[in-house]
Amino acid sequence: KLLLEVKDLTAVIAESGKEILKGVNLSVYEGEVHAVMGKNGSGKSTFAKVLVGHPDYEVTGGSVVFKGENLLEMEAEERSLAGLFMSFQSPIEIPGVSNIDFLNMAYNARRRKLNLPELGPIEFYAYIFPKLDLVNMKTDFLNRNVNEGFSGGERKRNEILQLAVLGADLSILDEIDSGLDVDALRDVAKAVNSLLTTQNSVLMITHYQRLIEFIKPAYIHIMEDGKIVKTGDISIAKILEKGGFKAIS
Ligand code: ADP
Ligand code: MG
Ligand code: MG
Repeated sequence: KLLLEVKDLTAVIAESGKEILKGVNLSVYEGEVHAVMGKNGSGKSTFAKVLVGHPDYEVTGGSVVFKGENLLEMEAEERSLAGLFMSFQSPIEIPGVSNIDFLNMAYNARRRKLNLPELGPIEFYAYIFPKLDLVNMKTDFLNRNVNEGFSGGERKRNEILQLAVLGADLSILDEIDSGLDVDALRDVAKAVNSLLTTQNSVLMITHYQRLIEFIKPAYIHIMEDGKIVKTGDISIAKILEKGGFKAIS
């Protein structure tokens, strides 16, 4: 079943009007893992942020249908409640809010949307506790403020914990490999792999090969100057590894 269909999507930076996305086309079906690769500055993060409704960008053309609905008409929060998740390249700190309270609130918002009863603190703790193992985190992590003083690796693990708690139909992971050593990368990849089902899909954005070796995408898209210029299977990554982005364009 088609989950996400992006057609001729164009978008500008709201402040300056500069066009960054110049006609992106992409279809993602349930259960698929896709990767978007491309040089720094090619528009990968902008694409991800436009999909989640980031206010820095304005859509000027094209369409995005998510689970049969017009995604572009939804507020950012509605998109997330509808089952779209994004991990940011630079996650924000939320001073004064503990990680577990934040996750509990976000989870309850999603449950309300699904017409399920909210979980109180004790029930929520029971729900989250087994998920900590998945990302190799200790319980004291839950009592720290959101992202405050987290190391790069801890932030990434926390994003995956958020994903594990909230669940999502489509997870957009923007450079979850950046700044991770190989052990942290393996943990994060293992957690992402364990969250994959036949129903949910992942769109991972990466500059590097190594993530692709751990989370094997069925499709790799190459973005160049605000467009997807080539789509292929994992063999594209091999060509990239040898010749760089030049070799495939
Ligand atoms: P990538 O993720 O592929 O490295 P980005 O989407 O971050 O690329 O950026 C694409 C281009 O758009 C870059 O030239 C970047 O400087 C510019 N850009 C993106 N967002 C903004 C913004 N909010 N303000 C100004 N320039 C931006
Ligand atoms: Mg970049
Ligand atoms: Mg980027």
